[in-house]
Amino acid sequence: MSILIKNGHIFTAVDSYVADILVDDGKVRTIGIDLAADADKTIDATGKYVIPGGIDPHTHLDFPFGGTVSSDDFRTGTIAAAYGGTTSIVDSAVQQRGHALSQALEMWHQKAEGKAAIDYGFHMIILDLPESRLPELDDMVRQGVTSFKMFMAYLGAVMVDDTTIFQTMVSAADNGALICLHAEHGHMIDVLVKNALAEGHTGPEYHAITRPPATEAEATHRAIRMAEVAGAPVYFVHLSCDEALQEVQAARARQKYVYAETCPHYLTLDNSMYDQEGFEGAKYVLTPPLRDHRHQAKLWNGLRRNDLQVVSTDHCAFRFSDQKTMGKDDFSKIPNGGPGIENRLSLLYTHGVVPGLLDMNRLVEVFSTNSARLFGLFPRKGTIAVGSDADIVVFDPDEETVISAQTHHMNVDYNLYEGMKVKGVPQVVIANGEAIIEGGQYTGTPGSGRFLKRSTL
Ligand SMILES: [Zn+2]
Repeated sequence: MSILIKNGHIFTAVDSYVADILVDDGKVRTIGIDLAADADKTIDATGKYVIPGGIDPHTHLDFPFGGTVSSDDFRTGTIAAAYGGTTSIVDSAVQQRGHALSQALEMWHQKAEGKAAIDYGFHMIILDLPESRLPELDDMVRQGVTSFKMFMAYLGAVMVDDTTIFQTMVSAADNGALICLHAEHGHMIDVLVKNALAEGHTGPEYHAITRPPATEAEATHRAIRMAEVAGAPVYFVHLSCDEALQEVQAARARQKYVYAETCPHYLTLDNSMYDQEGFEGAKYVLTPPLRDHRHQAKLWNGLRRNDLQVVSTDHCAFRFSDQKTMGKDDFSKIPNGGPGIENRLSLLYTHGVVPGLLDMNRLVEVFSTNSARLFGLFPRKGTIAVGSDADIVVFDPDEETVISAQTHHMNVDYNLYEGMKVKGVPQVVIANGEAIIEGGQYTGTPGSGRFLKRSTL
């Protein structure tokens, strides 16, 4: 199958020009002006933007959490991702306590195989790491799982102690893996949650009240210093507030290998969502919580200045009707997470590029290129270049649409951005040289996504 994309405005992290792209056998073959090639299919991209397919390095498909499982699996979640211009994800496998990492990896391979519509890699979430298991970390790296994620919060569930974090960092300094951290001070939060419940505060708004910015900033600071001592690079997932951003900025000013992502919901929504009537606020119970409005400008500025390198979604969908309600009488039992895998590009374009906060090159960088660089996929992914995988989005910058659960493709009964008007819609999405979204329809084959064996940083 060959595709000729004619006359589109191509943007990469560093380029901006109008040309034709010939895609063949899954790869970008030729880029040039007025290409005279015979292709199986021709796409007229005149007046459209042509950008690398998005990479979402933080998703939770078919993910067990708090006694339930996230509602999007590898089929529905990756199809929704494709609708939104994302052509690769890095999802997370979770070690079971007392079990080998290879067992978790095998389980996640089974979840994805035959279902994924786009390419996927895995982080490995570490839950316990006796010394005898340390060699398993090197084994994961050899198998292309080159990042380890750990939780500094969720005491009594997935939280690990500082020894485990530091041990993993020391190993990573040697085997080249990237350490990804959920940075919140789990002990403080545990006390705040218990106190709130004891005082009869059971509503979803207390999710945010019991996780103040300082709990995130403290954990961010602690992890940075541990990584410095270990000599390992560190990447903060879902950074949500100015206080944590300041820690990252200070570390980067000291020339440390510290990276961080934020998510569209922190850039575009705030904690007033928790003030809604009844149980509505539970839709926004995700972690860290939505913050006061003042943080948004700081986060956008962090993206502009490259203190934040990536925008991921942390897509972890739970139905409002029967999953979020598990915490109807106790906010601490509401499954933490929200949907978003489908909406990242349009939100970044509408709230970033249209008001002039980001230019198109920077959008491409935070949407795709930097994830490829940090997670061992560049230059195979993350750019449009001869020889790269043909993961390409033809994007109409003028089309407008309204986000709604009525029309989205995620397997969940609400949308965080319900009713929000956005500008810029992916028109054609090509993954591995095949047009999988066209004319508003999914035209691919679930299962065609491949496991991405990633290299080290
Ligand atoms: Zn997450």
